[in-house]
Amino acid sequence: MDTPTRLTAKAYKSDIKPVWCPGCGDYAVLSAITKALAELQLPPEAVAVVSGIGCSSRIPAYLGTYGFHGVHGRSLPLATGLKLARPELTVLVTGGDGDGFSIGGNHFLHACRRNVDLTYIVMDNQVYGMTKGQASPTTEADWLNSKLTPEGTGINPFHPLVVALSSGANFIARANSSDTNGTARILTEAIQHPGFSFVQVLSPCVTYRPEQREWKGISKTATIQRTADPGEAARWLLQDDRLTTGVLYEGGRPAFRPHAGQPVPVPELEQEFVL
Ligand code: SF4
Repeated sequence: MDTPTRLTAKAYKSDIKPVWCPGCGDYAVLSAITKALAELQLPPEAVAVVSGIGCSSRIPAYLGTYGFHGVHGRSLPLATGLKLARPELTVLVTGGDGDGFSIGGNHFLHACRRNVDLTYIVMDNQVYGMTKGQASPTTEADWLNSKLTPEGTGINPFHPLVVALSSGANFIARANSSDTNGTARILTEAIQHPGFSFVQVLSPCVTYRPEQREWKGISKTATIQRTADPGEAARWLLQDDRLTTGVLYEGGRPAFRPHAGQPVPVPELEQEFVL
C-alpha cells in the first residue's frame, strides 16, 4: 500500500508573489502560517483564510487554501458566518492592528465573547502601513514620527491581550515574526484549540516604523506565563512589557456550535430569515 505523501509548507502557498516591502514582517507570518498548516497536515481545500484590508490582509492571495479578501474591519463577521455555515472547515482570520482594532474593534470584542472556533492572527506593527504611516490603535502615545501626529497621539494604546482576555477569548498568545518557527508553533496550538483563539504577532513595518527592526531577536524565548486561570493571566498582564512572547491563556469554554455543529442546508438557513 502506498504511504500517503506528507504535505510540506510549500503545498499551502499560491503562485502569487507577495508585494510587501523587502524586510516586512508579514513575509515571516505567511511562512509561519504555512508551516503550521503543514504541521497539522490539513488538506488545503479544508482551510479558509478570511481577511480585511491592509498590507497583512493580502495574505489569503498568497495561500493555496480557500481565501476571502473582505472589506475593512469586517473579517471577523465574515469568518463567523463562514464557520457557522461550514463547521467542517478550519477558518483562519488574518489582518493588521488598524483593520482589527479600529474599524474592526467592535467585531473583535464580540468574536471573543461568542467563542466561535476561529483563529484570529493580527500582524501588529503599530501603524497603518498601506495608507502611508498614520498612527493606529496600538501606536504608542509618544510616537513622534508621523506627519499627521508630529507631537504624538497623546492617546494610550489599545492593549489587544487585555481586551481579548476581558472579552472572553478562549486562547490568547503573542508571537514575534522574527522567530518564524516559534510563531508557527504558537499558530499550530491556536488552530488546534477549540473556540476563539487570538494571536498577536509583532510584525515590523520596516517602511514606516524602521525602529521596529529592533524587535528582531528580543523575544525569541517564550516568557509569558501560560495559564488556564483568567485571574492569573490578568495579573500577569499588569506587568506585561508588550514584547514578550508565548501562550498567555488557554481557556476550557466549549466553542459556540449552533445546530449541534451540523452543517445547515442553505434553504433551512434562509427560512430563519423569512419575515
Ligand atoms: Fe509591510 Fe509596512 Fe511595507 Fe506594508 S508598508 S508592506 S506593513 S513594511
